[in-house]
Parts: sequence; structure tokens; C-alpha cells
Amino acid sequence: MWSPSIFSFLGYMAEGGFFKTNFTDGKMAMKLCPCGYYGDPEKECRCTPQMIVRYRSKISGPLMDRIDIHIAVPAVKYREISSDAPAESSDSIRRRVIVARERQLARLRPHRLFCNAQLSQKLIKKYCTRAPDAEALLESAFRRLSLSARAYTRILKVARTIADLEDSETIRPVHISEAIQYRMLDRVIQ
Ligand SMILES: [Zn+2]
Repeated sequence: MWSPSIFSFLGYMAEGGFFKTNFTDGKMAMKLCPCGYYGDPEKECRCTPQMIVRYRSKISGPLMDRIDIHIAVPAVKYREISSDAPAESSDSIRRRVIVARERQLARLRPHRLFCNAQLSQKLIKKYCTRAPDAEALLESAFRRLSLSARAYTRILKVARTIADLEDSETIRPVHISEAIQYRMLDRVIQ
């Protein structure tokens, strides 16, 4: 899992104001650009592409690859999002999660594993079956976004879980695109 050197690196980055960390639940928040408004629907980011590239180059790629899911949460909207009644009831979400967990367990039990995050390269090949159009989407995303090999496997594992949540054995384009959104920090700014 996480080595002590990663923790000291995170501590260093947190001191530098790059991250807000909460190691107990494994969540980490960070600004996507120096001004903090990159990707914010309400407020315009004033940083130049060069400033953003310089800022992100200080955050190591291997570190980003260690994090499964990156999500943009615009600060101004957070309160609204968290107070809104969910479109899907939490009971129904809970049921879906349980079904997805059972799917994963049934698939992985013979390998003595219990969740998609543990999939090896060999098992990714075996279980992350993509529809042809999903494969095409993944390939073009990789060309456009210049993602690392490690990001590639992360995206497939996350897409596998999204497909499980929809009770779909095959990974479809919609699952791939959602998984790519969760890896948005891997995008290279052109
Ligand atoms: Zn900015």
C-alpha cells in the first residue's frame, strides 16, 4: 500500500499548500491550478497554461497514479450539492452497492481477492472486457490526454466497478468516460 516515503512527501506537499489531507479516511483535496478556480463552473480561472503546467509538475505523476479516484468539487457548489436531496434514494444506492460488491466477490473469490482495485494485469485482461466502441473511446482518450500506463489500468479498474454498479458484465463507453473523468488530474493541458 502506501509507503512511509509517500506520507512524508504528502506532508511536505500539504505544508506547501498543495493539498488538504485527511489520512484517516484516505481523502485528499487539492487545487487544480495556482488560483484554485480551474474547472470551476462559476468563476473563471485566470492562470495561464504555463502556470498550470508548472504547478502540476510539482505534483509527482507516481503519486497521482497511487490515488484511485480524482473528482473535481467546485468549492462554491459544495454546500448545495451536499444539501440537495439525492435523485436516487440512499436506500436504492445502498442496494446497488451491495449487488456490485457481490458481483465482484463472486468473480474474484477463486483468486482469493475481494475487490476490483486488487486486479492484476492478467486479471484485468480476463475481467475488464470492453465493448468495441468502449475500447475505441479508451484508445482515443489516451492519445488525446497522454495518460500513463498506470493511469490506464486505474481507469479500467474504476470502469469495471462502474459497470458492476450498473449490473453490466461488459464495460461500455459510458463506464469508460465516467472513469476517465475521475482521473481528470492525469490530463495534460495543451
Ligand atoms: Zn487558476
